[in-house]
Amino acid sequence: MDQNFWRKCIVCKNQIKYSTKYYKCSVSSCDKKRAPAQFCSVSCWDIHRSIMNHKSAGADEYHSPSKEEWVREQANVPKVRIIKAEKSSVSPSVSHDEILVVVSKLKAFVKETTGLNTSNDVLPQLSDILREACLLAAQKAKREGRKTLMRKDF
Ligand SMILES: [Zn+2]
Ligand SMILES: [Zn+2]
Repeated sequence: MDQNFWRKCIVCKNQIKYSTKYYKCSVSSCDKKRAPAQFCSVSCWDIHRSIMNHKSAGADEYHSPSKEEWVREQANVPKVRIIKAEKSSVSPSVSHDEILVVVSKLKAFVKETTGLNTSNDVLPQLSDILREACLLAAQKAKREGRKTLMRKDF
């Protein structure tokens, strides 16, 4: 591992160095383990936002790892992935992101109000929507100098 930068900006392909500021999209589904999405600047993220047609999203500031940290982290990643994403009834993303909704209550609500069953693969999707809404609301709360998310942030 002799490369002298951490990753490349997915928009302009400029190098993002170690131990430096970079940005991520606040839409959690944009950043995948297999295809991480990082931006060198807010303006690159802005291009991504218009390509992806995000109606409401933000760029969150992060700090890239130092070279030592990154090398160590890479060493811990297993080289061979045994899990394959096959066509199954369960979406592979189910195991990646935590489900934030109360499954039984959600299913009961949908059933009672519409008579429909709810497939398990909507749960990560709904959780993403919740995550995104919370992140946006958090930005608003922070801008107003608060430490608590409130109803008016949504
Ligand atoms: Zn860039
Ligand atoms: Zn995005």
